[in-house]
Amino acid sequence: MNKIQIEDKEFEILLENDNICKRTRLIAIQMNVDYESRCPIFIGVLNGSFLFMADLLKEINISCEVGFIKVSSYTGTESSGSIKEVFGLPEDLHNRDVVIIEDIVDTGFTLGYILNEVHKQKPASVKVCSLLLKPTALKAPIDELEYVGFEIANEFVVGYGLDYNGLGRNLKDIYRAKTVAPPLP
Ligand code: 5GP
Repeated sequence: MNKIQIEDKEFEILLENDNICKRTRLIAIQMNVDYESRCPIFIGVLNGSFLFMADLLKEINISCEVGFIKVSSYTGTESSGSIKEVFGLPEDLHNRDVVIIEDIVDTGFTLGYILNEVHKQKPASVKVCSLLLKPTALKAPIDELEYVGFEIANEFVVGYGLDYNGLGRNLKDIYRAKTVAPPLP
């Protein structure tokens, strides 16, 4: 499917599942080397990371722990930037090697908030893996951002865990919102 419609919005294909899975495998291969003998804890940020987390973790062959956290998120297609709380953060991260798994980094506000909470526990190391990054939307550099699947333009995307008004998370490919051409004068 090259085009889909969700509610009022049209989307067109951006990344096919094969491509996503190939890139995910390469990231996992790198992580297996980087974290050999370290037993990291992978923490997925719900809801958007659930498919990426599953595909990535299936390729991780070192000893590790897995957890999930949840934060407040977007409504519609605009970043609210307002994160109120992180739910479900493990309380035993002291001296651990922590890897945060994100679906997408846009402004970086969400990740900044999460990282602040994680660092309070003084882990041995903290790195971030995000499937998608919008470099031109990022408000400040994030030192911990070690693994990035794809850099994309500053446009709204849906599928493979990412939603539009709660819909589209189950799509296996990733789609971008079609920009509507202005009417001719
Ligand atoms: P940030 O705080 O970096 O601006 O936004 C991070 C969160 O906003 C992501 O975890 C995701 O839930 C949501 N988000 C940002 N950009 C998009 C997008 O293009 N599509 C969707 N569906 N969600 C997005």
